[in-house]
Amino acid sequence: MPIATVNPATGETLRTFDPLDAAGIERRLALADAAFRGWRTTAFAERARLLNAAADLLEADRKDIARTMTTEMGKPIAAANAEAAKCAKAMRWYAAHAEELLADEHPDRSDVTDAGASRAYVRYRPLGPVLAVMPWNFPLWQVVRFAAPALMAGNVGLLKHASNVPQTALYLEELFTRAGYPQGCFQTLLVGSGAVEGILRDDRVAAATLTGSEPAGRSVASIAGDEVKKTVLELGGSDPYLVLPSADIEAAAKTAVTARTQNNGQSCIAAKRFIVHTDVYEAFRDAFVAGMTALTVGDPMEESTQVGPLSSEQGRTDLEELVDDAVEHGAAVLCGGGRPAGRPQGWFYEPTVLAGITPGMRIHREEAFGPVATLYRVANLDEGIELANDTPFGLSSNVWTRDDAEIETCVRDIRAGGVFFNGMTASHPALPFGGVRRSGYGRELSGHGIREFCNPTTVWQA
Ligand code: NDP
Repeated sequence: MPIATVNPATGETLRTFDPLDAAGIERRLALADAAFRGWRTTAFAERARLLNAAADLLEADRKDIARTMTTEMGKPIAAANAEAAKCAKAMRWYAAHAEELLADEHPDRSDVTDAGASRAYVRYRPLGPVLAVMPWNFPLWQVVRFAAPALMAGNVGLLKHASNVPQTALYLEELFTRAGYPQGCFQTLLVGSGAVEGILRDDRVAAATLTGSEPAGRSVASIAGDEVKKTVLELGGSDPYLVLPSADIEAAAKTAVTARTQNNGQSCIAAKRFIVHTDVYEAFRDAFVAGMTALTVGDPMEESTQVGPLSSEQGRTDLEELVDDAVEHGAAVLCGGGRPAGRPQGWFYEPTVLAGITPGMRIHREEAFGPVATLYRVANLDEGIELANDTPFGLSSNVWTRDDAEIETCVRDIRAGGVFFNGMTASHPALPFGGVRRSGYGRELSGHGIREFCNPTTVWQA
């Protein structure tokens, strides 16, 4: 894939970039290695000062970087602005909390003396340069949620961003440089995915994190495994959205529309499979379809646009194939189901709801990365949970109920990295984020996230 900015709303190639050559990659790896030697011993207060400075700059740049993101990958401009603001907030959160999250851990004194020590504790030390292979769908947020904790822990970052968001990638390096970080603490490597293996196998790279598709995750994890290097993987999802009779159906349907179509439907934690109790099926279906139909699809640069184009032509083709397969196997199209009329350019797709889904359809098991919802009817909670778990993924999940016993059952039985009740899944710096099964492993954000790329060192004194 060429490294280029191609506007998904028009299909026009706006800028192309030459990838780094071998000498350029080598220079940057050497710089990261040298930077880590100094950065690893800086005080938390100094790390926090720089991260807050980066947050200040990002807030000041918010409108410009939002326009860059929308130009490169098509998200509605209002969402791009919100993404930039969320990044600044997460930077400030880690600046404020990292020291306490990584404080030495002291086991009970009696346990320590039992182990023959007069004193023993755990110190969280950084690992080194961490390679971040990142996707285009939240081109600032996915990077910041890695970079903020990694830098606060004393690691340094090497970003291999998706090839369709090079200007956002370059902005990120520039942001940390302008904030005053020592040279080499955060670098962008403009390279294609073919260069990842060589970088990951380099001795100077300590670990890797990847957000993206399953094939990309599998490839990076197997190379890292071969090199015995730590990885965190945040892959796809096909999150269930379970609606039970005690729910506020109107609120459930309204939130369902946002949960499915946020970021033009291209979010790993978007709710994708809507599983509705038979007693409230018709009421939910009608309100949900009406909400999906009423969305404003259009130019992502317009503040009023709710759904913009998909990020690439290939992305739209993949989605069309999934919908076609479902329809060929008998699915009913309740709304949408094609390209919107009057938009001959750009990679737009209508907000779509499909019903009558059967296990033989690809969309039952694969992730639909676009504004396409599947609707299922179930007879009771057990059937709902069984269907919710009938997926290779396990990222997050959503349940609408006001019944405490049902809440407990769902927390116990839904196989996912999160269970959100009466709302939609969202990430927050204070809460861990990540999945199980084909959605990946490890966690980002919170104390769990910052400790992923640390060496929890046992210190023992006789
Ligand atoms: P990819 O997984 O291909 O891209 C994500 C990142 O991984 C990019 O930086 C990409 O680089 C890199 N990459 C791709 N293949 C490899 C590889 N073999 N080794 C190392 N790095 C690699 O996602 P796509 O953009 O192709 O999207 C395809 C599907 O992936 C989507 O339809 C969706 O299902 C899923 N996806 C999930 C995301 C999530 O948030 N969990 C985010 C994006 C996609 P390059 O751009 O240079 O190819």
